[in-house]
Amino acid sequence: MKYIVILGDGMADEPLAELGGKTPLEYARTPNMDRIAREGMMGMIRTIPEGYEAGSDIANLGILGYDPRSCYTGRGALEAASMEIDLAADDVAYRCNLVTVMEGVMTDFSAGHISSGEGKALFATLAEQTPSVSLYPGISYRNLLVVRGGGGAVTYPPHDFVGEKIDPYLPAGKDAGILLNCMEKSREIFSDHPVNLARASKAKPPATQIWPWSGGKRPSLTPFRNLFGKDGGVISAVDLLQGIARLAKMEVIRVPGATGYLDTDYQAKAAYALDAAKHLDFVYVHIEAPDEAGHLGNAPEKVRAIERVDELVGTIMKEFSGIVAVLPDHPTPVRIRTHTPEPVPFAIWGKGSDDTRVFSEKEGCRGGYGTIDAPRFLPLLFL
Ligand SMILES: [Zn+2]
Repeated sequence: MKYIVILGDGMADEPLAELGGKTPLEYARTPNMDRIAREGMMGMIRTIPEGYEAGSDIANLGILGYDPRSCYTGRGALEAASMEIDLAADDVAYRCNLVTVMEGVMTDFSAGHISSGEGKALFATLAEQTPSVSLYPGISYRNLLVVRGGGGAVTYPPHDFVGEKIDPYLPAGKDAGILLNCMEKSREIFSDHPVNLARASKAKPPATQIWPWSGGKRPSLTPFRNLFGKDGGVISAVDLLQGIARLAKMEVIRVPGATGYLDTDYQAKAAYALDAAKHLDFVYVHIEAPDEAGHLGNAPEKVRAIERVDELVGTIMKEFSGIVAVLPDHPTPVRIRTHTPEPVPFAIWGKGSDDTRVFSEKEGCRGGYGTIDAPRFLPLLFL
């Protein structure tokens, strides 16, 4: 048997007045996900263990069968793996955003979704002035900073305090001195950098500085094949997911046109997933767009992103003869513009059925699978 799991990042939400009291999943036109619910079976999945930060790293590790309580060290370490950076045992890798801070307030955690080329140019200049750390430009605003022989730090994800003063959220702990120094250097160097001058002339938000967060040391994961006896692959535009795949020795399937943002090429992802399923037992398709719409606080955009995820689900269901499952990794409520740890609905098509009729948060609670912890999801799917 073959399996395709489609994960819409941050799809789950709350009822919204502007959507007539419905959640984006309820409001969006999703005939294909609804068919999975109607003909298949639903449940709720707890993806964020108590005491852990609600994020895609923790959630996706769990859904792929790895209990974050035993293997999670930090998002930066996972992304280092995706960028094929070999960390020494005492290196601490931090995720390093390019952000916009205006008058001490975090106004944009992505510096206007700055392009990879612009980010690379900013990092190249900064690297000359910060020999105490290693900087690695990544995709868009998502970059990496490695402290060799680091001690770790208490840090805060910049998407959690958009619109607030940054002071209470500055790094603390062993690596704080070195991180704060690099942040200060970035402020100086970026203020009159050609990249920002060009952005200003086009009325785009400047990347005013770097923001390091979620540092961690190299994690070790049991290979996916050893865990489940299946060959698996992952499709995602996001470094984090590619990092998890590489650490789990899964195939990283690269799709041209996958941007990790609202303009991602959904149908290309479907085609590549179907193609990969010819030689793999399990394909995991991750779509970032609904999460980004949630972070923007944009309900209509989130509805559109969900509808396009649904079209991808439809393309896969039409062509694929195996088992299909769909789920979010965590809620990213439009109202609060960040992740929450609540359980999310999942649906599996091709195994059994219950009386759920549409794919929604409410229906998931009535589903035949009940509520499960994330590491139980794949064992249930493969049963
Ligand atoms: Zn997110």
